[in-house]
Amino acid sequence: MRRVALSLLAHPDDAEILCAGTLLRLAERGWEVHIVTATPGDCGSATLPANEIAAIRRAEAAAAARLLGASYHCLEERDVNVVFDRASNRKAIDLFRQLAPTLVFTHPRCDYMLDHEQAHLLARSATFSYPIPNASPLPLLEGSQIPWLYYTDPVEGLDPYTGQLVTPTTVIDITPQIERKAELLACHASQREWLRAHHGMDEYLDAMRRHSSLRGQALGAAFAEAFVQHRGHAYPHTDVLAELVS
Ligand SMILES: [Zn+2]
Repeated sequence: MRRVALSLLAHPDDAEILCAGTLLRLAERGWEVHIVTATPGDCGSATLPANEIAAIRRAEAAAAARLLGASYHCLEERDVNVVFDRASNRKAIDLFRQLAPTLVFTHPRCDYMLDHEQAHLLARSATFSYPIPNASPLPLLEGSQIPWLYYTDPVEGLDPYTGQLVTPTTVIDITPQIERKAELLACHASQREWLRAHHGMDEYLDAMRRHSSLRGQALGAAFAEAFVQHRGHAYPHTDVLAELVS
């Protein structure tokens, strides 16, 4: 089996907040890891124009990926304009076709921001479609298959409609990885400042630690990340993530 893990999330820093501890664990086990964002984070500044903050954030995302031992890719959609349409679908399917991931992480169907929900649709489509021979003009790599698919927590773990904490299917202990996860998140220096200015959230790293700590409670671990596995038709049903790290 190909051992290629990929996160397709909306913005730079989403992977570092939501699943980087688990990606670190996979990298430690020899998995190839790819971090894909839908946008370069072009709305992530209260003062810089879009092209300038986007350039800064691409570099921050690439630096975090390098530190993890991963590759960084951007679909070059635009913040608050991620839309599941023919053009974005094409880009996502073709990227998946080239990387042929066997384990994919994306946002849940319901999240606080529509960029996240649309990135979810792009990942749903690309995971299902990329191994179909005629779905892309690009060559089909050996070992291409519908991958295991896991949804990260929504922001703060809360379903945006009910305000309730999402119940995970899979919780991964990241206690040994938490300091490295914080280092990866700290690569996004522009966002620590931006969140202070826009969300009134002074504790970029502390919020990540608090949430990881909350998810650790289910395991009796200091820190964890929580996921819901997609178990729909045609997707692998075995909980490969739990098996890999147990
Ligand atoms: Zn985001």
